[in-house]
Amino acid sequence: MEIVGLRAFRDNYIWLLRRDTAAAVVDPGDAGPVLNYLSGNGLTLRAILVTHHHPDHVGGVAALAARHDLPVFGPAGEEIPTVTHPLHEGERVHLPALGASFRVLEVPGHTRGHIAYYGANALFCGDTLFGCGCGRLFEGTAQQMWNSLQKLAALPAHTRIYCAHEYTQANIAFALAVEPGNEALHERARQVAEMRGHDLPTVPFTLAEELATNPFLRVELPSVKAAAQARQGQPLEDPAAVFAAVREWKNRF
Ligand code: ZN
Ligand code: FE
Repeated sequence: MEIVGLRAFRDNYIWLLRRDTAAAVVDPGDAGPVLNYLSGNGLTLRAILVTHHHPDHVGGVAALAARHDLPVFGPAGEEIPTVTHPLHEGERVHLPALGASFRVLEVPGHTRGHIAYYGANALFCGDTLFGCGCGRLFEGTAQQMWNSLQKLAALPAHTRIYCAHEYTQANIAFALAVEPGNEALHERARQVAEMRGHDLPTVPFTLAEELATNPFLRVELPSVKAAAQARQGQPLEDPAAVFAAVREWKNRF
């Protein structure tokens, strides 16, 4: 199975999975790029997976599902009329045509019912975890998002992470404000600037890279906690409180 990134809107990625003549897509916010790729490569769409209800992730589903008879997988906890197979934590999505199977992880925070798909050493996490960042808390609490990120952080370190937006470079600018002494972060900043200079995607990246450089996964480190406390001007009791402070800081950055 091959995974291809299709660009959509300003900075979205629609991930297309392909094997032989079969394809599946994750979070098709726009049908156009998907239909172009399918016809250009002689592929048949066999399944659609969505992570949450936002229009930039589900906007193309109705048009794609109308053209093909296929299952639309999505979170049971959200109101998405086009979803035919609502999913809960621990359930599996089998895609026999792609030779792949994914486990569902509930990762609330960005939205209340947000889910991620894990399998074939890949994680499709929508707007939960980004390169050096994380999604905004539109519907969930900081505690929920922190729990969700811990769940993702517990996956194997070599997991390849396919998030839905190209936000890495801007996120790194913030991460450097939190951890100016993180040498791995400086190295990643150099690599990402090089990639973006050539208009190359910075996604996917590995969980190992995130654990070394993403401040939202590093709130238990004394250096991150100290930076968040200095910013807030008060002691922060637990990792969720540090996470909330770093998220607030990023909102205003
Ligand atoms: Zn979203
Ligand atoms: Fe989004």
